[in-house]
Amino acid sequence: MKVVEQECITVMEGEWTPDEVIRDIVEGGTQEDPFYVMDLGEVVARYRRWKELMPRVEPFYAVKCNDDKLLVSTLAALGAGFDCASKAEIELVTSIGVEPERIIFANPAKMASHIRYASAMGVDVMTFDSETELMKVKQYMPHAQLVIRIRCDAENAQCPLGIKFGCDAVTEAPRLLKLAAVLGLEVIGVSFHVGSGAGETGVYARALGLCRALFTVARNLGHARMRLVDVGGGFPGGSHTDIFEVSQVINASLEELFPERGVRVIAEPGRYFAAAAYTLAACVHAKREITSKDVDGEAEAHTMYFINDGVYGSFNCVLYDHQKVAAEPLNPTSEELLPCSVWGPTCDGLDCVLPSTRLPPLRLGDWLVFRDMGAYTLPVASSFNGFPVPRVRTLVDDKTWAVLKELGPLSSAHVSPGRVSPASPVDERPSPSHSPPLVGGAPLAVFV
Ligand code: PLP
Repeated sequence: MKVVEQECITVMEGEWTPDEVIRDIVEGGTQEDPFYVMDLGEVVARYRRWKELMPRVEPFYAVKCNDDKLLVSTLAALGAGFDCASKAEIELVTSIGVEPERIIFANPAKMASHIRYASAMGVDVMTFDSETELMKVKQYMPHAQLVIRIRCDAENAQCPLGIKFGCDAVTEAPRLLKLAAVLGLEVIGVSFHVGSGAGETGVYARALGLCRALFTVARNLGHARMRLVDVGGGFPGGSHTDIFEVSQVINASLEELFPERGVRVIAEPGRYFAAAAYTLAACVHAKREITSKDVDGEAEAHTMYFINDGVYGSFNCVLYDHQKVAAEPLNPTSEELLPCSVWGPTCDGLDCVLPSTRLPPLRLGDWLVFRDMGAYTLPVASSFNGFPVPRVRTLVDDKTWAVLKELGPLSSAHVSPGRVSPASPVDERPSPSHSPPLVGGAPLAVFV
């Protein structure tokens, strides 16, 4: 696991947009490497919206989605729990002071040493979906509080997960619950994941129906203290998406199926918190004019643009997360859209970000902006061929910061005096990627 380490949050006074910040950074002409602008305020706003819409469902952020320490620390400060899939993720989350009770080890196929580590750290709640996992837990952590993961797939999803995890609620789960009882293991709940980027909301109602039935089965088999429902992830994360519809489905199903308040309900959202907060800026460093065929098979002029981030870096999401990314010129020079493709910087022919799109004509040194790039990008990115993984510039507006700095893990931040103009964030860190410091004065706040 690669934890994105950053020391600094830039606090912004007044209105600002990621594009203004990006312009400010690239203006001097010396910034060459790609970079992210991360808006912590977006994370806070999403946390608040979640709480407003689903007060009964406690979000346990899925760390795998983006393990940026500032993102994780912010969610910890706000009071979120965490879904960890490995020893390293548990290490990260506990290192910032999150109590083990706020962690679910939500990987149904765990390594023995990771189970032992969870046990030593007091992370008691973990998922399973097979006999062998039960035997392993019996051996390494017999006091674990187990959550059975069942399969219930959305009709369509950006990344279906049911093919790999989740036992059948009818044919397999009762047998596993019985085995757990025979082994003297305690099962406390049921979990599911409908698929990441789920394209259907009704699936949560179906899945909760299966959970309800399994609560009865489990209790009859001797798991007397069934008390947890985990609705997993699958929530939308893009800027133009909302969780209103899915929240209505979940709330209504919970009211109908789990009216008893003794049953705790958690979720494992990843994409929802991470995606929209990160805007990526990448620069065109080369281009090639070719002739390609249009939709009618006619020859047409086509420009291949080469940018400094590709599928071995942030755009691994195009391959692994099946994301559709869209490039926007930071400073478009024309309204004319011409046929082109966008390629990453490595020597691999696979390294294609957009095989066919239309953009205004771009010059070398022009910057492209990619929005909603925070989910399943940075943790997977590599520096293959020697091209660095983009660094993250984290910003927050002063009002949100005033609230955040009072909270938990972010309380060690200190504020230094200074005024920041809207388009001039300040940040005087030396940049590992040789980018110039953001201009404008002294930082308002430095996260240490
Ligand atoms: N929980 C588990 C067990 C997962 O495997 C994943 C994603 O793969 C998530 C939660 C997060 O899902 P999402 O990003 O769709 O919210």
